[in-house]
Amino acid sequence: GRVTHFDAEVLATRGSQAELRARHHMERRLRLAIANGGLRLHYQPLAEVASNRIVGAEALARWEDDELGPVSPNEFIKLAEETGLIIDLGRWALRTACREAATWPMFESTDGIRRRMKVTVNVSAVQLSQPSFVRDVADALAESGLLPRTLCLEITETAVIGDMHATAKNLQEIRDLGVTIALDDFGTGYSSLTMLRDLPADVVKIDKSFIDKIAEEASTDSVLARLVIETAHSLGMSVCAEGVETNEQAERLAGMGCDTLQGWLISKPRPGSEAFTEWLPSAVL
Ligand code: C2E
Ligand code: CA
Ligand code: CA
Ligand code: CA
Repeated sequence: GRVTHFDAEVLATRGSQAELRARHHMERRLRLAIANGGLRLHYQPLAEVASNRIVGAEALARWEDDELGPVSPNEFIKLAEETGLIIDLGRWALRTACREAATWPMFESTDGIRRRMKVTVNVSAVQLSQPSFVRDVADALAESGLLPRTLCLEITETAVIGDMHATAKNLQEIRDLGVTIALDDFGTGYSSLTMLRDLPADVVKIDKSFIDKIAEEASTDSVLARLVIETAHSLGMSVCAEGVETNEQAERLAGMGCDTLQGWLISKPRPGSEAFTEWLPSAVL
């Protein structure tokens, strides 16, 4: 009775104390990594369907810790968001991506103009709600010399569940700088249509969960993907499909009018220095 109940409670407390210690340890290590250059960015290319060329790349944070080994971005980004470390991490990612992208090669786009490859950077809700965020973006551009139109910020639906009005205002100021905005993981939240109505954005990124079954004729996912593409185009936005792994998926998406493709079919994320030697020489699809 009573004793057993007490023991169980003690055990449960010990268990969660161990978890708490591990979490504090990871938080300390992450803080050090951010301060001491222990994080890296990898880049995953974006292929333009019309030209069959790489036109940009998404920056994805990587962390391999001396004590903890490699930690998955889903884990350390979540921890960073919960502890406020995402402010420094996000600022680092923004500055690093701009600095590295400023050295990337030019390519000839479909309109015959030579452009620099675009870089897209993930932005968390916590960052978006900071009053200093617009200035952080402007500083990263000024420091690197990157043209604003070469930078795109990816935001998720969950990022804007809080204060939609304040977020929209911040995003409008960022767009006024000439930076583009992409709605990331589109379709996975519960307010996708509200997002389209209320947020100024240039690109919709269809979430991988819709892409997985897109090659199945008349699957619900392929109907929804087509709907997203047509709706985005009617609103003057372009569409990027995430997590494209097979040729069948790429062909279906191209047939639906999807503008850019991203996924393992084209390339896994790589360090910037390695990535371009592999991407540049040939057409991708
Ligand atoms: P995300 O922004 O949705 O990024 C796409 C994720 O899908 C990446 O996972 C990428 O490596 C993976 N992926 C790309 N193509 C394929 C594919 O064909 N198949 C499969 N199975 N996966 C593919 P990753 O790199 O593990 O990043 C996970 C998440 O962590 C990102 O999801 C993003 O939300 C977050 N994240 C990463 N870096 C940053 C950052 O610098 N700042 C913020 N705020 N979040 C970041
Ligand atoms: Ca993203
Ligand atoms: Ca995504
Ligand atoms: Ca995602």
